[in-house]
Amino acid sequence: MERREIAGLLAYIGRLDPRTMRTDTAELRDQIAQWHELLGDVPLSTEHGWDARETVRAHILDSPYPILPVDVARKWRAYQRDRLARHTDPTPAADPDNVTAWRAELLGTRHAVAHGQQAPVEQRAITAGPGPDIEAYLEATGSPIPPVVRAQLAPFRPTRAAREAAVMAGRPDPLSVRCEWCHAPIGEPCRSRRTGPDGTARGNARRTVPHPSRVDLAAARTRQGAAA
Ligand SMILES: [Zn+2]
Repeated sequence: MERREIAGLLAYIGRLDPRTMRTDTAELRDQIAQWHELLGDVPLSTEHGWDARETVRAHILDSPYPILPVDVARKWRAYQRDRLARHTDPTPAADPDNVTAWRAELLGTRHAVAHGQQAPVEQRAITAGPGPDIEAYLEATGSPIPPVVRAQLAPFRPTRAAREAAVMAGRPDPLSVRCEWCHAPIGEPCRSRRTGPDGTARGNARRTVPHPSRVDLAAARTRQGAAA
């Protein structure tokens, strides 16, 4: 506040609380100088919720004591603290390689927020549960993994990819039943049992393609389910 604004504020205070009114010119000059000393860097009002007259009025309503300039200064500091606490320092638009400009913008924004020239940038609070758009997305794709990424992952998880492909194509999922041929349990891929020349088992490799009898069994189960 400039001296002129301080004088205006003191006149306003004098109307609400005549005890603070100074009629003597020299006394008034001293009073203005004293208030200016403490409130020189405090604005009279900002576009973002600060008004020194509001602070004065609230003090006069709440307190039996005459208002002092320090009461206004303290309120201003609390206002600044509150705003900076809510400000989340958004990433500056300046080129991050230009450290001077980047820093200047960050500090400039912070200063503008603290001095009530700009509203604090508050991040949206994270709400409970996924938003409606995510739910719609899951409904449409059936998976939080985007279809493009799933396709790229397919070579690395052939069994899973085969199941998904079957379901997408409307075919029965063979892994939904136990394999009567190799005894692979539900959800597990079929295993190839290779037999050596002497008749002993030599391997137990996973098969990408289920045994045909398992596919048939799954299809039969699906038909039964549909008929039931
Ligand atoms: Zn099998």
